[in-house]
Amino acid sequence: MVLRVAVIGAGPAGLCAARFLSAEPERYLPTVYEQTAAVGGTWVYTDRTGTGEHGLPVHSSMYKNLRTNLPKEAMVFQDFPYDSGLPSYLPHEEVLRYLEKYAKHFGLHQYIQVSFELLTVTSFKVTAPDSPSTEQFDAVMVCNGGRYSVPYIPAVPSIDQFQGGTMHSHEYRVPEPFRGRNVIIMGALASGVDICVELAQVAEHVVISHSNPPTVEIHNLPANVTQAPRVECIVGPNTVRFQDGQVFNADDIVYCTGYSLSLPFLTPECGITINEGRAYPLYKHVINTTYPTMSFVGLTHHATSFSLFQLEVKLALGALDGSLRLPSKAVMDQEIDKDFKTRVEAGLVPRQAHDVFPLYLSHITELAKVTRQPDPLGQTSMAIDSFLRLFSDPQHFRNAEYKVTGQETWEMVPQQTDRQ
Ligand code: FAD
Repeated sequence: MVLRVAVIGAGPAGLCAARFLSAEPERYLPTVYEQTAAVGGTWVYTDRTGTGEHGLPVHSSMYKNLRTNLPKEAMVFQDFPYDSGLPSYLPHEEVLRYLEKYAKHFGLHQYIQVSFELLTVTSFKVTAPDSPSTEQFDAVMVCNGGRYSVPYIPAVPSIDQFQGGTMHSHEYRVPEPFRGRNVIIMGALASGVDICVELAQVAEHVVISHSNPPTVEIHNLPANVTQAPRVECIVGPNTVRFQDGQVFNADDIVYCTGYSLSLPFLTPECGITINEGRAYPLYKHVINTTYPTMSFVGLTHHATSFSLFQLEVKLALGALDGSLRLPSKAVMDQEIDKDFKTRVEAGLVPRQAHDVFPLYLSHITELAKVTRQPDPLGQTSMAIDSFLRLFSDPQHFRNAEYKVTGQETWEMVPQQTDRQ
């Protein structure tokens, strides 16, 4: 029997799902629903913010000058290389080109319905807007990029007093509007640090406010950038006080505070609860233990995205075709609870329930073992190296080329030319 599988989203995760589903036509018939007009997900840049052409919220948080924060050698599907001759750190257009080639090479377009927003999933019928009917599937793979599309904005006491501009990094596109201004960036992970360096080129002064742990202390910022602890409150129309008592007169606040997990199409019948960014109960962050024919690819974050997606897809398909014998629901749920408990004990909050870096890198090895796939160990260690260099030298960390020298080995060669 051929299983009909709905895939929600045609970003890297959905394309990867379609690639492996379509490789077994005797077993699966995928239908990929993509709400925008193109494949590529986050990597499709648009100048637009707010709503897109068809009135839907803009999905992608891509900004105009973004270059990858991982070398391409650590963000590659294991069975599909980038074109030779490209630098390690790519402009976003090159990643999109890579994904388009991937879709073409594996003949995926025939399975993809673009401009098709999927509205609800009810075990397992999917409903589309204005569609005359509800489609019924045997399985659903959720690949909607719900990790990076709906801004998370923390409460700041007295924010209503603030008369300056505010923006979330989801809406950030170019630095020009910040020319000559005094800006506070709240949050200092990859986007916060990257946007800080870009804004510093035009702004008068930038304060980057954060509570990063020592592993990701930030060094070597531009001269017109200072660091501050978290914002405590607003104390005047343009005055912001930090937790150490310092105050700063800001024209703008840019929230680089991450995203809320967004899975708006799930109905209660799907058996998934979402609590403060944690989706439960998901075995290895992928399989719905209540209905194992429902899986999630790309909920994990802060890791080697594409090769990890491939392992997650393999796990989902192994559960579907029975080649992987899943433990009983009780055992899977116990494992999920244990994983979450160790996170809480390590001081993580529920929003970090699916975070891989830095405490849970062994998850990738474990997933490779369970799915009997090669462990992308080389990619994982390159990603850590790059991530740490981002914090130690955010202005220049991309002046480097990574050379893969073996299954798990690589070299990083610093470059003279400043490509920033
Ligand atoms: P997405 O790429 O977000 O794709 C999801 C797709 O699902 C979208 O096309 C969306 O339109 C569609 N969709 C959503 N809801 C529906 C619905 N209801 N119906 C139909 N379609 C729907 N990763 C790296 O490896 N390296 C980097 O350098 C890097 N830089 C990043 C920079 C930024 C600013 C951001 C936001 C993320 C970055 N990432 C990076 C992470 C990036 O999100 C992943 O690389 C990857 O794009 C995630 O793939 P995905 O398929 O899970 O989600």
